[in-house]
Amino acid sequence: MELGHVLSEGKTKIVYAHPTDPDLAILFHKDGITAGDGARRHVIAGKGALAGQTTANVFRLLNRAGIATHFVDAPEPTLTVVRRCVMIPLEVVMRRVPAGSYLRRHPEAAGQRFDPPLVEFFLKDDARHDPQITPDEIVTQGIATPAEVEQMITTGQEVFTTLEAAWATLDVTLVDLKIEFGRASDGTLLVADVIDNDSWRIWPGGDPNRMLDKQVYRNAQVVDEDVLADVYARYAQVAELTGRWEV
Ligand code: 5GP
Repeated sequence: MELGHVLSEGKTKIVYAHPTDPDLAILFHKDGITAGDGARRHVIAGKGALAGQTTANVFRLLNRAGIATHFVDAPEPTLTVVRRCVMIPLEVVMRRVPAGSYLRRHPEAAGQRFDPPLVEFFLKDDARHDPQITPDEIVTQGIATPAEVEQMITTGQEVFTTLEAAWATLDVTLVDLKIEFGRASDGTLLVADVIDNDSWRIWPGGDPNRMLDKQVYRNAQVVDEDVLADVYARYAQVAELTGRWEV
């Protein structure tokens, strides 16, 4: 499809204006994969198309569940048409099981289960390695209103439980998940950005040794062709599995 001008470019996607509708934008999913705030970076041919497919599968499910998201359509595997938003510079992380940075901060929590899912906020700032930020700091720094913080917590938990239930039908445990929000032109808060295999920890049968997500790439001591082929295979599997949620 025809693209408008570039609005912004990140490590894994380019955001284009829509050629005719100012209320829409188009995400192009790139083949890049990065970790460690961009310190590690590779290109995996076809990864962008798989990311686009997974994102479309996830957002269609969320839209069907009645959750307000920016997703409109996916006319091609690498392209996502979305409602244009001003992004809120926060990563909103929901956790059912302590893992990753939470376990490093709270080693005593190993084996615990959060019900409802725990919600944490991180400020998007690569130079400062995305520091954690409290709801009070979000409000006092003018990043979001108290009502928006409440909504991000409630909607975040709803997104988590919706995806958790979908993965459970495939005997896959959703461990944690990162999402982002944006404000549409009318001020409505929408689940925005991408939600793909870079955004969560997913453990088939609840077994971390069988993880299908990006953590495989983050954990690799040395990244060679075999590791990249293995990462591609897992992303392909996740695109196929999330496609089964389609009714
Ligand atoms: P943790 O804080 O334990 O490192 O990550 C929690 C969850 O958020 C994991 O599922 C992880 O994949 C996701 N996450 C954390 N930071 C980022 C990020 O910068 N980009 C993406 N795509 N996901 C992230």
